[in-house]
Formats: sequence, C-alpha cells, structure tokens
Amino acid sequence: MESQKLKELQNQRAKALEKLKKACRECSPKRRKSEFVTCPKCGSRYPRKYIREFGCTFSPCRVCEDRRSLYSATSIKRIENLEAQFDNIEALVNDERERLIAQIRGKFNEIYDEFYNGDTYEIYGASAKSGDAIHYTIMIDTGAVYKK
Ligand SMILES: [Zn+2]
Repeated sequence: MESQKLKELQNQRAKALEKLKKACRECSPKRRKSEFVTCPKCGSRYPRKYIREFGCTFSPCRVCEDRRSLYSATSIKRIENLEAQFDNIEALVNDERERLIAQIRGKFNEIYDEFYNGDTYEIYGASAKSGDAIHYTIMIDTGAVYKK
C-alpha cells in the first residue's frame, strides 16, 4: 500500500523548494556587482563578501539583522510569494501524512506504542481483527505501509 497523493505532494513540495532556492539565489545581495553593500535601514556599509546566504530564505543585514533591508521590493515580493507557496504545500504534505497514520491506527484494537523513527513512523499494538500483536511501518516520504 502506498499513498499516491503523498508522493505527488512530495514532488510538488520539492519543486516549490527548488523555485524558492532559485529565487533566493538570483535575488541574493551577494550577487551584486559592487564590492560593498549599504543597508538602507541602519546605514551600515560593508563588503558584500560578509553577507551570509541560507539557501531558501533572505540574507539578513549583518549589522541590524533586518531580513529584507538588502532586497528590492520586487525581490521581497517574489521570495515571499514562493515561501507562501512552499508553506502551503508543506501543510498539505503534513495533513496527508496524518490522514494516512490515522487510517493505519484504525487497524488496531489497542496501540502499545507509536513513534517517528528517522524516515519511518512505527505503530505497535493489537490487531482489531485478530487481537494478535501487529506492527506497522509507514515510510514518511512515500506513504508506503509495511505490516510486520
Ligand atoms: Zn542593516
């Protein structure tokens, strides 16, 4: 058993993350031509090389730590829109995973233990059908379910 919907959502999530990373890279104040940057908020001027990049979010000013002061209004809008898109998909991924876990819980009469274990979710308990001890493993990425 596997959740096609979860797999599709994971694909969408990966694409949204790539778009966000690309925008952050392209809009980064580190890519400017001038050697120095000036923060319009605190007025500090320092070498561009001191700017730190974080991959999928804004690079803050090194002095006042404002997250947006080194960006143009267009860049801010672009990054914020992609951040919002990513967050929406992330929420859908989490919802679908919770739905899947709840569905598997329904196979138990009693649950002894359940927990995340790296890239899997484990549920131990007594089968609702037979009362026997059963153990389900759910792959977090694909939603594939294994009964042991
Ligand atoms: Zn500043």
